[in-house]
Amino acid sequence: MLPSTNAKLSGWGNYPVGEANTISLRRDIDFSEALECSPLIARGLGRSYADQAMNDHGYVALTENYHLFIAWNQLSGVLECQAGTSLEEVIRIFAPKGWFPMICPGTKYVTIGGAIANDIHGKAHHIDGSFVNSVLSFTILLADGRKVRASREQHADLFWANFGGLGLLGLILTVELQLRRIETTYFRQKSVPVQDLDHMLETLDKYDAEYNYSVAWIDALATGKRQGSGVISFGNAASLRELPDRFKNEPLKLHSPSKLSLPFFLPSFALNQLTVSILNRVIAFVQNSPKTYVHYEKFFFPLDAIHHWNRGYGKRGFIQYQFVIPEENGKQHLSEILSMIASSGCTPFLNVFKRMGNGQGMLSFPFKGYTLAIDFPITPGLMAFTPKLDQKVLEAGGRIYLGKDAVLDEKTFKEMYPQVNEWLLVKRKYDPQNRFSSNISRRLGLQA
Ligand SMILES: Cc1cc2nc3c(=O)[nH]c(=O)nc-3n(C[C@H](O)[C@H](O)[C@H](O)COP(=O)(O)OP(=O)(O)OC[C@H]3O[C@@H](n4cnc5c(N)ncnc54)[C@H](O)[C@@H]3O)c2cc1C
Repeated sequence: MLPSTNAKLSGWGNYPVGEANTISLRRDIDFSEALECSPLIARGLGRSYADQAMNDHGYVALTENYHLFIAWNQLSGVLECQAGTSLEEVIRIFAPKGWFPMICPGTKYVTIGGAIANDIHGKAHHIDGSFVNSVLSFTILLADGRKVRASREQHADLFWANFGGLGLLGLILTVELQLRRIETTYFRQKSVPVQDLDHMLETLDKYDAEYNYSVAWIDALATGKRQGSGVISFGNAASLRELPDRFKNEPLKLHSPSKLSLPFFLPSFALNQLTVSILNRVIAFVQNSPKTYVHYEKFFFPLDAIHHWNRGYGKRGFIQYQFVIPEENGKQHLSEILSMIASSGCTPFLNVFKRMGNGQGMLSFPFKGYTLAIDFPITPGLMAFTPKLDQKVLEAGGRIYLGKDAVLDEKTFKEMYPQVNEWLLVKRKYDPQNRFSSNISRRLGLQA
């Protein structure tokens, strides 16, 4: 049996908090011993927001030290690495060589294994799709001790079920990842302030063909004529030719490690509707940046500038509520959802709005429509409010992102994800004894 340590664990939202026995995945590990630790779930860098990489009274395999590069093809840009490798490590080594991850979420501190398990998306989902589009194949340790390679051709059911599969089909060990050629590490961006929801949706339409990347910050407390107001940032990768002279001497410049950190939890009363509406104005001002060329660090990962920023929500923690709804009647539904939020008495913060393209996979979150992600600090009324939001999202034909979810119940989840039965068949085939399970799998009935 591998040595294990009892540890308190939570996701990025610091809610809920649990306990598990942790084992560390390393190069020299005996995988048959890892499988003796049951039930087991993998954990990358813990950037899922809630109980995705938690396993109360079971085992959690920490993968962040399982992060070697195995092979690199500089002609095709295909990298093979261990699954605990982070996007930060990939960028640090390969951006100076002119290669970048194809899909980037809002933080670079995620592992490749975690990116697969949540099939993460970025600001260009409507163009690039989700993380699956950058993965050629992976190897995975199954419940019966076999190590198999899964791809679109080999074990295709296993391949597809892992994207959004929350680590419940095995331990992903190594991944063949397609990187994208870049000429510079800069982006040309344009910020457009918008007055209301109509203006928001029209502006997204207007610049769609011109820019690959788009993301909006929305003021979720604005009501009446200002409902849906905010700022949209559009962007494209900057070519070497267009780069301003001041950046040309180092066009593939890397980020420098951030020195800022929030050393302790802020008091929970610091965020209330008044402070949030003031902060919303500050965000609108900062978002409406006049700078045309920005470095990838600011463009993709502005929140990485402060380590442990999640402590700003206080010890009680927060949830991130992210949903996607179809475009059809989307404006009407969005307006109703925003009204519910503004009058809920809860405190919506950092509200990010994006457009999504077509989805693929069984439990993968994205589909064609509009997605809104909102941070809600844990307050007394929140747990009574989210089931109402869930019902509204369901009524609009939408679903909640499982990589962020902390509160969904099994029945509502299964109505939101119509392909769940197809996924459960794959689970029964590869892990009939539920050797791999987690808090979220028990909460949502993702069990064989
Ligand atoms: C600031 C911030 C911004 C974000 N922005 C976005 C965004 O724009 N788009 C988006 O899609 N997501 C976003 N996320 C969410 C984040 O990208 C995902 O939650 C990601 O999966 C986290 O990766 P991780 O390595 O931290 O995994 P963890 O959170 O540790 O684990 C996530 C899941 O992956 C599984 N897992 C991890 N490693 C393995 C492995 N080797 N084998 C099998 N299963 C494994 C775990 O069991 C768990 O189910 C954001 C998160 C933060 C904190």
